[in-house]
Amino acid sequence: MEETLVIIKPDGVKKQLVGEIITRFEKRGFKIKKLKMEQLREQTVKEHYAHLKEQVFFMDVVNFMTSGPVVVLILEGPNGVASVRQMVGATNPQDALPGTIRADYAFVSGSNIIHASDSLESAKIEIERFFGE
Ligand code: UDP
Ligand code: MG
Repeated sequence: MEETLVIIKPDGVKKQLVGEIITRFEKRGFKIKKLKMEQLREQTVKEHYAHLKEQVFFMDVVNFMTSGPVVVLILEGPNGVASVRQMVGATNPQDALPGTIRADYAFVSGSNIIHASDSLESAKIEIERFFGE
């Protein structure tokens, strides 16, 4: 069993996809360990996406992630980190496989609906960042 962190981004919330996305994970068998809706602080987003800080689009990502409320979840399941990433799909929705969340609901990387931790190590850090545990 592994825990992983998921964020339904502001576009997912605005498009009213929260229920649909959570349903996908629940139907697959993931357990919701924690769940909250909040407006992210700029500082939190900058830390969360620090690996992108040299990219020209960094501030676009920061502005996008703070443009409205997000839903943050901890999901638990077998091989949780990799399984959830697989369901999320590639960063660029146009490269994401059909049936993945990004392929089904998005067209561009800049607003690709959802975040999921990319490794067990990031999952631990991100769970601590968003839920302080
Ligand atoms: N991003 C973007 N343009 C890019 C690469 C990334 O707008 O060329 C955004 C995109 O929203 C992505 C986020 O920055 O989800 C984090 O990038 P990362 O490489 O960590 O991708 P992810 O882990 O989300 O698939
Ligand atoms: Mg990432």
